[in-house]
Amino acid sequence: MLDSLRKVAARLLGTATDDRARREPRRLALDDVPHLGLVYPSVESIAITLRVESPDRQHCSITHTRTFADRSRADFRFRCKNPACVQGGFDLSELIDRAVGAQRDTVTGTRICDGVESPRGTYHSNCMHELSYRIAIRYQQH
Ligand SMILES: [Zn+2]
Repeated sequence: MLDSLRKVAARLLGTATDDRARREPRRLALDDVPHLGLVYPSVESIAITLRVESPDRQHCSITHTRTFADRSRADFRFRCKNPACVQGGFDLSELIDRAVGAQRDTVTGTRICDGVESPRGTYHSNCMHELSYRIAIRYQQH
């Protein structure tokens, strides 16, 4: 059951199991992302609290929470807060898919941005900004 749901979600999103899509998370237009209620009918809402911190801990974004409900687009890709970052960002889609599959209520963790900083010139360095996340999932009551 959950496996088939996951397949539907993957097909609708055109991602999840596709390596290329994972590396280029921003190719998919938001309009093409299905509603949360369609992807995860068992879920009432998903609240994702995010904070992004620079590797030297000198810069830190405001901690904010985004809540996804029935009619929200099930788009769990978030921008990197590093203004110099290119091709970075954080895609929590797979994580959320696994959490819903396992009926977990809360998932917390960190993830490092794999984008690169490209200031003027030829010097490039890895972004390495760190995302701290807390995902709170509420399921439909039956
Ligand atoms: Zn980044």
